[in-house]
Amino acid sequence: VALAEPPHPPRGDRGSLWQLRRATRRSFGPIGEAICSRRALALMRFVPSLPRFARARYLSPRHPWSTRPRDVPSGLRTVAGITRDSAAEIEAARTEPLQEYQQVHYHATNWGNRKLWRAILPAAPRLMRSMKKASATAHIQPSEPVEQIRRDELTRQVKEYAATIGMSAVGVARYDPKYTYVQYHGQEVGDRVIVCILEQNWKMTQNIPSAVAEQVSISTYAEVIDQSAMLAEFICSKGYRARAQGMHPHGIAIHYGVAAGLGQLGLNGQLLTPDAGSRCRIVLVDTDAPLVFDEPVDYGVPAICDACKACVRRCPSGAIPSNRKMYRGVLKAKINTARCHPVVAQAEGCAVCMRVCPVQRYGLGPVLDEFERSGKVLGIETDDLEGYDWPLDGKHYGPGERPLLQPEFFNPPEAGFDFTRKLPLTSDKQKTLI
Ligand code: SF4
Ligand code: SF4
Repeated sequence: VALAEPPHPPRGDRGSLWQLRRATRRSFGPIGEAICSRRALALMRFVPSLPRFARARYLSPRHPWSTRPRDVPSGLRTVAGITRDSAAEIEAARTEPLQEYQQVHYHATNWGNRKLWRAILPAAPRLMRSMKKASATAHIQPSEPVEQIRRDELTRQVKEYAATIGMSAVGVARYDPKYTYVQYHGQEVGDRVIVCILEQNWKMTQNIPSAVAEQVSISTYAEVIDQSAMLAEFICSKGYRARAQGMHPHGIAIHYGVAAGLGQLGLNGQLLTPDAGSRCRIVLVDTDAPLVFDEPVDYGVPAICDACKACVRRCPSGAIPSNRKMYRGVLKAKINTARCHPVVAQAEGCAVCMRVCPVQRYGLGPVLDEFERSGKVLGIETDDLEGYDWPLDGKHYGPGERPLLQPEFFNPPEAGFDFTRKLPLTSDKQKTLI
């Protein structure tokens, strides 16, 4: 398999142009950060969107993923979905129920959002409108069922509709209180969760880490949230309740993606789908429609990760451990969020761990083909896959090189808080972001 051409040649030190852009960013920074405050963002839904031609270069592909990859070689098979210890999962949920990250790390998340103003602002009007549309689905009264539809026929219609409106993939999983944030316990509208996925533009994603790549991710969120609201309205028209959860899902979206057979957990902590790796955005719709459940699948991802570990090597802050351990009853590499979050906030969303993943760049099929042919992971230790331009110094870092981040980077004095600090939960006053 030939490696794809990089979107642009390695640029090395960007010199005066980069210095100019950095100075401009500094000048406009305070204004951008003020507009990205929670209150100002809420008003962005009244601002017109950028015209479609201005967004054309980073729009998502509008066709459903058509096929599943070929059979996984027997040497790469492990388990369908993820290795679990059910008793430990139940115990973890009982003793330490999951909490929504944005609420527990309220100050860090708000501070980080403001730092990402260059990425957020261009897509914010569409994002805020789609979130409004999604939250309105909670109040839709379902129509009287016009006809009694069989479960499999209803499921087919829902998936067909999702494909018609341009979603890349949908799957159905069982609602699971263990993976629901404690803030949303008891608020579910039914016993099923529909996982909605939209692929993110390939070419623009290869510019990670950069403001424009982060802008693509936010734009993709705006698109898929809008689509999920349309899907919820469609289900309501069939006589069932459905609620689009919007930007902040009520539980762990990756858990539901694995349970619905749409991918497997990568070492980078993301859902690796066979078609696009983690280069996609996931949102959830909960419903009482009696849809047929999908099942977890073994795509060979854990074995590929064991041979790859590109994200572990390339993470600028060393936040990804190289080995998995049981964590809350699930075998995974637990990301160190206190190392990751400051980088995401200050380095244009970072996401190097997504950028350097061969499944994201080439798709799982070619990666499996190459592994079967040569025993190697496609692209590993090449600049094409592992090299990136670092937005904080304008330099290119190839395989074996990483930017140097000083200790104060992880607790910047200007932020005025500690990234490891957690807020106590208050049930009467839940904090929401945007
Ligand atoms: S987002 Fe960046 S800092 Fe965080 S885990 Fe990924 S590569 Fe590391
Ligand atoms: S970069 Fe490699 S190790 Fe990391 S998630 Fe992707 S395939 Fe797995």
